[in-house]
Amino acid sequence: MRTRFISRRGLLQTATAVAAVAGARPLRAATQADVLIIGAGLSGLRAAHDLQDAGVNVQVIEGRNRAGGRVLSLTNIPGNPEAGGNGIGAGYGRMIDSAQRFKVELQNIADRAPMIFQRELVLGNEIIKEKDWENHPKNPFKGPMKKMMPWVPLPLLMTQKNPLGKNYEDWYDPKSFGLDISMADWFRAQGLDDAAIQLAYNTNCDHGSSADDVSALMVAFVYSWGNMQRDIEPRATYAAVGGNQAIPNAMAKALGDKVHYNKAVVGIRTEGNMVEAVCADGSVYKAKKLVCSVPFAALRNVKIDPIVPGAQGKAIRTMGVQSLTQTHLVAKKPFWENDGLKPGLWTDGVLGNVMAQPFGKNPTDISSFTVWHRGFAAQQIDRMPEADAKKFVIAEIERLRPSAKGKLEVKGFKSWGTDPFSCGDWAIWQPGQVKEFITEIAKPHGNIHFCGEHTARSNRGMEGAMESGERAAQEVLQSI
Ligand SMILES: Cc1cc2nc3c(=O)[nH]c(=O)nc-3n(C[C@H](O)[C@H](O)[C@H](O)COP(=O)(O)OP(=O)(O)OC[C@H]3O[C@@H](n4cnc5c(N)ncnc54)[C@H](O)[C@@H]3O)c2cc1C
Repeated sequence: MRTRFISRRGLLQTATAVAAVAGARPLRAATQADVLIIGAGLSGLRAAHDLQDAGVNVQVIEGRNRAGGRVLSLTNIPGNPEAGGNGIGAGYGRMIDSAQRFKVELQNIADRAPMIFQRELVLGNEIIKEKDWENHPKNPFKGPMKKMMPWVPLPLLMTQKNPLGKNYEDWYDPKSFGLDISMADWFRAQGLDDAAIQLAYNTNCDHGSSADDVSALMVAFVYSWGNMQRDIEPRATYAAVGGNQAIPNAMAKALGDKVHYNKAVVGIRTEGNMVEAVCADGSVYKAKKLVCSVPFAALRNVKIDPIVPGAQGKAIRTMGVQSLTQTHLVAKKPFWENDGLKPGLWTDGVLGNVMAQPFGKNPTDISSFTVWHRGFAAQQIDRMPEADAKKFVIAEIERLRPSAKGKLEVKGFKSWGTDPFSCGDWAIWQPGQVKEFITEIAKPHGNIHFCGEHTARSNRGMEGAMESGERAAQEVLQSI
C-alpha cells in the first residue's frame, strides 16, 4: 500500500489539467493519501474508519464546515431536534456499534413516538376533527378506508399487502422487478382512484413529489425493512443523547487532522493508477483510490473525468430526489392546551406536516415543533427569501389556529433542496430505475468507488449509509 509519488512538476501539470477540466481556479497545493474519501457524512466516515483500521492512509475532504452531512442536530433548540437523520432503529447494528465505539450515549425514544402523531387534519382552511372525517365531503376513500385518517392507508396497505412481505432484500432480486412501477399504478391495482391517491400519497409524501414519480418496489422495500426494524425485540428507537450528530462528530474527531473541511470538490479525474479531486478553492488531493459519498443529486454538479458511462452515469444524472425544507419552532406558551386541538397539524397546504417534538423531561412534554415542507411545498418555501419564509410559516399556523398568535418563534430553518451538498433529502428510485440501475449504481469507475445511502442494498437511511461505507471500504481493500 505504498503511495507512488510523482515529481512536483508533473503533479502540478496534472493538477492544472484537472483544474482546467473542472473549470476550477488556479491550484495551490496537492495532498496525497492512499485513499481519498469525499464526504464526512456517515458513509464516508464509516469507509474512512474501516480503511484506517486496515492500515490504509486516508484523507477525508468535506465541502461543509462540519461533519455529519444529512445528520444535523439543532442543539440551540430545547430537546436538540434533528433537522436530518432522526430515528435509529433497533436493527441499526452499524450505527449502534459506532455509537458504542466512539462513546456516544444512546437513549431509547420509542415511548415518545405517539406524541409525534398527535395531530389535526387540515384540508383547505378547514380543521376536520377525526370524528367528522368518515362522513366528510372531502373524504375520497371508499369502503372501510373511509374511517381512516389520510395518513393511515399507505402504511396499512404497505404492511398488509406488501408484495415483498418480510423479505425486504428481495427488492433487488429480478423476480421483483414487475413491481418497479409507479406507486400510483400500484395504488390503482389496490382499488384507489386518483382522488384517494392524491390524499393518501401526494399530500405530505415521504418519498418523491407524487405517487407517479416513485417506484412501488422502492416503497415496498422501505416499509418491509421499516416494519422489520419495528418488530425487533425489545422494541426500541434510539437517538444519541445531545443529538444524533454526536455520532458523526465523534467519528470525525477520531480521524483528527485527516478530515479537511470547507473543501468543495468540483472535479474528479481517474487515470491509470491514480485519482485526484480538485476543490473549488483550487486545492488538489491525490490518491490511489477515491471513495465518493456525494449524493447523486449533488454529484451532478461535479465534473468526473472520464465521464461515468452507461446506466451508472444515467443514474447520477437522473436518479430522483425529494425537496425537503424544515422550519423549527419553539412555543413561548402551550397554546394547544387552550384551543382543544391536538398539538400537531397535517395539512394539504405549504405548511405540510407540523409535528410536535416530545423531547422534554417527560414523553408528553412538547419541546418544539418541526414543520416538514415536502416536495412541491418545499419548493414553494424555497422560492421565498428565508426571512419571509419564516414569517409565512408562523402566519399560516396563526391563521389556522388563532390560539398560537404571538406564541411561536422560529429557531431553526433548513432547506435540504437548496443545499448544494445534498440538493434534496434522500435518493428516490423512480419507476423503472430499480431494474435499470440496481446492479450498476455502485460499480467502481476507474479508481473511484461509490458509497452513500443511495447505493445501499439491505438498509436505508443512516444504517444504509453505514452499510455502503463498509462495502466501499471492502472493495478498496480488495483492489489495492
Ligand atoms: C430530514 C431528514 C430526515 C431523516 N430521517 C432519517 C431517519 O429517521 N432515519 C434514518 O435512518 N435516516 C434518516 N434520514 C436519512 C439519513 O440522514 C441519510 O440517509 C444519511 O445520513 C446519509 O448519509 P450519507 O453519508 O449517505 O450522505 P451525506 O450525509 O449526505 O454525506 C455526504 C457528504 O458529502 C459531502 N459533500 C457533498 N458534496 C460534496 C462536494 N462536492 N465536495 C465535498 N463534500 C461534499 C456532504 O457535505 C456530506 O457531508 C433523514 C434525512 C433527512 C434529510
